[in-house]
Amino acid sequence: MQTYDVIVIGAGAAGSSTALAMAKRGKSVLLLEQFSVPHERGSSLGHSRIFRFAYDDTEYAKLAIQALPAWRAIEAESGQSLLHLFGGLDFGSVGNSSFERTAATMTAVGAKFERLDAAATMQKFPQWRIPAHWQSLYSPDAGIVMPSRAVEVMVALACKYGATLLEHCVVQNLSSNTVQTNLGSFQANQIVIAAGAWLPKLVPMLQAQLTVTLEGSLYFAPKNLAAFTPDQFPIFIDHHSLAYGFPVQGLPAVKIGLHQSGDTVDPDTRGLVVPERMIREAQTWLETYLPTEEWRLIQSRTCLYTNTPSHDFILDWHPENNTILLLSPCSGHGFKFASYIGEIAADKLLRQPNPFDLERFRLPNALHKGEAKLLSRAILAPTGSV
Ligand SMILES: Cc1cc2nc3c(=O)[nH]c(=O)nc-3n(C[C@H](O)[C@H](O)[C@H](O)COP(=O)(O)OP(=O)(O)OC[C@H]3O[C@@H](n4cnc5c(N)ncnc54)[C@H](O)[C@@H]3O)c2cc1C
Repeated sequence: MQTYDVIVIGAGAAGSSTALAMAKRGKSVLLLEQFSVPHERGSSLGHSRIFRFAYDDTEYAKLAIQALPAWRAIEAESGQSLLHLFGGLDFGSVGNSSFERTAATMTAVGAKFERLDAAATMQKFPQWRIPAHWQSLYSPDAGIVMPSRAVEVMVALACKYGATLLEHCVVQNLSSNTVQTNLGSFQANQIVIAAGAWLPKLVPMLQAQLTVTLEGSLYFAPKNLAAFTPDQFPIFIDHHSLAYGFPVQGLPAVKIGLHQSGDTVDPDTRGLVVPERMIREAQTWLETYLPTEEWRLIQSRTCLYTNTPSHDFILDWHPENNTILLLSPCSGHGFKFASYIGEIAADKLLRQPNPFDLERFRLPNALHKGEAKLLSRAILAPTGSV
């Protein structure tokens, strides 16, 4: 039986990026995916994910700053456009903790941004009708990364560097260096479990701490499409309600989501229908803050979050085996970093130094509930106002 340097389980954002990084470093890589590449059952699907420096946490802002040139390098090598920067708006109000931390973080990392009051925001982006006490942070280094296309490109590049991809290959069991699948057994010196929502299934000791939720992406068509194109209408995040959205891209519609509003599900038995309550809440939100338009739902899609209690990523060795690396950059905010996450994982696998403080991605920290650090529902104003 051939022994690979590394077997990567899961060809989503994390797995495809890690396979690429290891293959580029001359390692023999076997990439296993239970479905096809790409597919609609996990977390890395669809037309768009928000890319931004505007984080309420300097470590993540720095990681995004590192991910940008890594995306550009992948684009240059593949000749494919994957990341489109056209601007982003964070809505908040004076004293809103995540909003204030985001402004402070942007200043701390030297990212370009403007802080606008409600009138100035509506002058710059007349589609919006926001309350007088709201403010916004406008940052030019924000936009859209295209998940399905990016995964396909990273897998293709990994294969160009010699990696082997096996699709429809379900990992059923793994021991220290051997992986059993429906297509036979395979061996490697190291194994990366980048299985997204299926991570707790492959590492049962994590079941108690990780929650998998069914999130929705709603596509609403405005009558005046031209007013919502990327050059007119930046991506947006509302720190009051955690609604977030995208200009018209991919589909002739504005896409909106409600961060961390999904119900806990089992990834193998989850449904494909977005709950009515999410559609209603999203429609109400659009009609409240973009009232000059009539919003018609044209499509809705489901997708899975793998949430840690801290909303930090997991990048750490298996507690019982330091040749198995656990990798889950999710909690609903990991795709933007995918271009660089593989490099960090490769440094870890090859015991090479990496400039980032990876301590917080270690299991004890990532699984520690503690005070909610990152932008999350736990931080919403106690009034529960959305
Ligand atoms: C609705 C929604 C909106 C989001 N918005 C943003 C955003 O705006 N910005 C942002 O940065 N991030 C966002 N995210 C988060 C981002 O998409 C995820 O962090 C990222 O896609 C996680 O990638 P992953 O590789 O960990 O998981 P996945 O892409 O799910 O990859 C895991 C892979 O492992 C495979 N697998 C699992 N078990 C097995 C097995 N036993 N054998 C073989 N293969 C297996 C699965 O089939 C899957 O392909 C969003 C996520 C969702 C759901």
